Amino acid sequence: MQPSRMTDPLLLEEELSLERTLRPRSLMEFVGQEKMTANLRVFIQAARERGEPLDHVLFYGPPGLGKTTLAHIMAHEMESGIKTTTGPALERPADLAGILTNLQPGDVLFIDEIHRLNTVVEEYLYPAMEDFRLDIVIDRGPHARSVCLNLPHFTLVGATTRAGLLTAPMRARFGVVNRLDYYQPEELVRIVERSAGLLGVEVELEAIQEIASRSRGTPRVANRLLRRVRDFAQVEGDGRITRKVAVSSLERLDVDCHGLDEMDKRILSAIAKKFGGGPVGLNTLAVAVGEDSGTIEEIYEPFLIKQGLIKRTPRGRETTALACEIVGAESPRNPQSSLF
Ligand code: ADP
Repeated sequence: MQPSRMTDPLLLEEELSLERTLRPRSLMEFVGQEKMTANLRVFIQAARERGEPLDHVLFYGPPGLGKTTLAHIMAHEMESGIKTTTGPALERPADLAGILTNLQPGDVLFIDEIHRLNTVVEEYLYPAMEDFRLDIVIDRGPHARSVCLNLPHFTLVGATTRAGLLTAPMRARFGVVNRLDYYQPEELVRIVERSAGLLGVEVELEAIQEIASRSRGTPRVANRLLRRVRDFAQVEGDGRITRKVAVSSLERLDVDCHGLDEMDKRILSAIAKKFGGGPVGLNTLAVAVGEDSGTIEEIYEPFLIKQGLIKRTPRGRETTALACEIVGAESPRNPQSSLF
């Protein structure tokens, strides 16, 4: 499984707090995803004009694209409070009851990794979302009795990297469903520019472009690379991030000019080298690279397809000539390769 932001040991507490500093607070500051943010603006204004809480919202898409940020922005724009938790943290119905009964009217309840809610807790969540009521069973055996609690009207914001794992009834209870897509290089340039301003670091436009183009279309990666490059500039230079400093730092961080991470390269290399360019089935590929097949399908593959590095065909996954070049494999389309 892909390590979540909560469990990834590489993301230290300091990194998390820096990430929070860089987080846009309003829709105005949020870069990109224009169609979605324009719609959200309308829904927020409409709910505010009616004096009602916002309908429940689901954000899905690969990690680091802004789902948590948007949940906080929703609360900020609605001028309401926010309580945050994650699917796996709500182990028992009592955990859910504890958090729901502490909400104020209009509050946002943000559940990250909502696909990992257990089925019992999920069943309790349905009436809470629909009718703002919670039926809980008190005591056990012959003394067991059901108590109905009325809850304040709240907005549930759910986030998931694995929309495919959400149950149909869960998905159906969200009034607004939004998919986040990878960012364009020019959007990442704006994000890095903004972050550099907030961190108070001087950086050349060409260096920003270099960082943005190697960030896997992901704001979290862009911000992380900026912070690491800033470290190199501070310790080994005069603190200014020039293009030269950016390129050499990124090379030392093993971030290639395509911005692919280690798992991306493992996937490409497996298809290109172990399976002769493919086609190879998803499950076989998953075993070969030691990753969950769903994670490959929903987190890694979309970016690799978008970059023109792999193709999804009815017979399985295939690498393209560009991918073979990147991982140093012979292209199966190269007629010369069939001579040997
Ligand atoms: P997710 O919940 O999808 O994993 P986050 O909301 O935690 O992602 O975003 C990760 C970081 O990326 C945030 O700290 C924020 O600084 C930055 N970020 C994400 N989306 C944007 C955006 N559209 N504009 C500016 N910064 C962004």
